[in-house]
Amino acid sequence: CGIVGYIGLPEKSSDHQALDVLLEGLRRLEYRGYDSAGVATVADGAVETRKKSGKLSNLVGEIDQAAMTPASVGIGHTRWATHGGPTDENAHPHLGDGGKLAIIHNGIIENFAELKEKLLAEGETFDSETDTEVAAKLIGRLFAGDAAGDLTEAVRLASNELEGAFTILAVHADQPDRVVASRRNSPLVIGLGEGENFLGSDVSGFIDFTRDAVELEQDQIVTITTDDFRIISFDGSPAEGRRFRVDWDAAA
Ligand code: GLU
Repeated sequence: CGIVGYIGLPEKSSDHQALDVLLEGLRRLEYRGYDSAGVATVADGAVETRKKSGKLSNLVGEIDQAAMTPASVGIGHTRWATHGGPTDENAHPHLGDGGKLAIIHNGIIENFAELKEKLLAEGETFDSETDTEVAAKLIGRLFAGDAAGDLTEAVRLASNELEGAFTILAVHADQPDRVVASRRNSPLVIGLGEGENFLGSDVSGFIDFTRDAVELEQDQIVTITTDDFRIISFDGSPAEGRRFRVDWDAAA
């Protein structure tokens, strides 16, 4: 239901740890309602996740018990369950490519059942009942296959196969310098910082850190790095979002 993404310079991570930025963003997005929460970060060439049903404080408790490696890139999610009950297993992130890929998702993937059948036949196994995990396994297979290790291309190819409504954010252990996001019939905004960039399902996800924003249009994909963002359409052609400045008072 709520989505945040972050990438910063590793040397900046002493003041902006990815985890702190993500949790702050998720707190700001709590007003949307949710039943579970989770985060994924990339550090030392591996993806790490923590996820928990219930309030954000449950997730924080989980992280307090099992600390995460300091990281400068990550994604965070609050879930409003549509496919599969509000359990720890069904909470996002979901993994693909043997645990090297993590994704979070808002919305509903309408054709998940037929895609799941195909993936099961190809030998994939599933840890959850969600529609989201189907997208995770699909993006993972594309990353290792047709997209040849290019996360943006893997997300783009998958987006063309997915029907329904989705905002998806993805990170991969082999490309720790980026977060890739895709949008169809579901909101997504980029927050522009200095040496760091943000993603949110709305500007509340990063309002504490920047007010410079870019709204994506439907059927677009954005790749953010520490100092750049690149938008393309689902057909691969370059695209532009709508740049704006957040001027409302978010002191609450
Ligand atoms: N359909 C997904 C699920 O049930 C995402 C729900 C959401 O938007 O939070 O896990």
